[in-house]
Amino acid sequence: MATAAHQAQAPTPSQTFFASLYEVASGERVRTCLQCGMCSGVCPFGYLMDFPPSRIITALRADVFEEVLATDTVWMCVSCYACTEVCPADIPVTAGLMTRAKEELLLAGNVPTELQGALENSQRYGNPQGESPRKRADWATGVEPAVTVLGRDKRPVDVLWFVGDYPSYHPRVQLTTKALARVLNALGIDFGILGPEENSDGDTQRLAGERGLFEMLAEKNGRVFGKYQFNEIITTDPHAYNALKNEYPALGISYPVRHYTQFLADQLDQLQPLLKQEVNATVTYHDPCYLGRANGVFDEPRALLEAIPGVKLVEMSHNHATSLCCGGGGGGMWLDGFQWEKAHARLSEWRVNEAVAAGANILATACPYEPPRFEDAIKTVKEAGVLVVKDIAELLAEAL
Ligand code: SF4
Ligand code: SF4
Repeated sequence: MATAAHQAQAPTPSQTFFASLYEVASGERVRTCLQCGMCSGVCPFGYLMDFPPSRIITALRADVFEEVLATDTVWMCVSCYACTEVCPADIPVTAGLMTRAKEELLLAGNVPTELQGALENSQRYGNPQGESPRKRADWATGVEPAVTVLGRDKRPVDVLWFVGDYPSYHPRVQLTTKALARVLNALGIDFGILGPEENSDGDTQRLAGERGLFEMLAEKNGRVFGKYQFNEIITTDPHAYNALKNEYPALGISYPVRHYTQFLADQLDQLQPLLKQEVNATVTYHDPCYLGRANGVFDEPRALLEAIPGVKLVEMSHNHATSLCCGGGGGGMWLDGFQWEKAHARLSEWRVNEAVAAGANILATACPYEPPRFEDAIKTVKEAGVLVVKDIAELLAEAL
């Protein structure tokens, strides 16, 4: 039986949580929080959170972290990095504080049902949608020349294209996947895909608090990478790029990786002469959180758009590092019902309004979460008029 002295020494939830932040790079900097409130002020859903980031830190200081665990509004965090971007004390608010808080909520069983389903699908099927792994390369049926599937065609390639979950399975996003295949083929790139052997990159599951699931998925992908010969990896998805670049190396899985916009921008000398068809349009580019703010890739997507004949590029009021999240990150892609119940607003609608205000008729994207989200938003924003959503790969393919 524990003595009173032992009970007095048991760490409180606040102490345990705080100690766990030391396991995150620079997590100990939470101690230096100024309580300026900028993180909570810039947070797109901060006004709805019982405990936005600065208040979580206040709760830790007051030793009442259990009050944070008793609410569910931390799940409104879409891991957009806006708070991290503005924090004057360089505290890893997104990767440390918010992600660790979600891990604790999961452990406490305080998790929205929608999210639980996506996490279970990821564990069982290797993708959050619960699709059959055998269908992962179905998008490539009919693409000419035929797409190399490494396990089937058994040959080394120059570039391993990590296609990703939504680009593989989602009917709208498959259009962008086919467009990118067309651009790669036009450039004569020797590329291959993993097809049924590819698993979810796991990054969004990690940011939704499921670190163990992330590691399981990463290790599966790492074992498959090790079976084949290639010189570098490209990704369609900024979340996969973030995982492969910043998270997989800590698990001993380390390969050169570029997002497809970086890869193509580096080949602009070869690509530009192929872009012969005019795409007469006013285009605005939405910086995805995990390409822009999280990884500093701002110029390459814009360079590709500016290379397309007839494109006039305009900026929305929030652009580059101040870009607004589409609402899909950090598990938001699997929490639309939960978010709607809390907010009665969609972040994607705010972004569509900004694109309209910028005078654009094309909203260009470079993340597979975005075309379905923005196209849904266009249906409900009456001012959206003729605005259409196109991935940069689709615009490049149209210009070929
Ligand atoms: S922005 Fe940084 S310093 Fe300011 S309250 Fe938030 S965490 Fe603290
Ligand atoms: S990552 Fe984005 S959504 Fe999450 S707390 Fe920070 S600003 Fe808010």
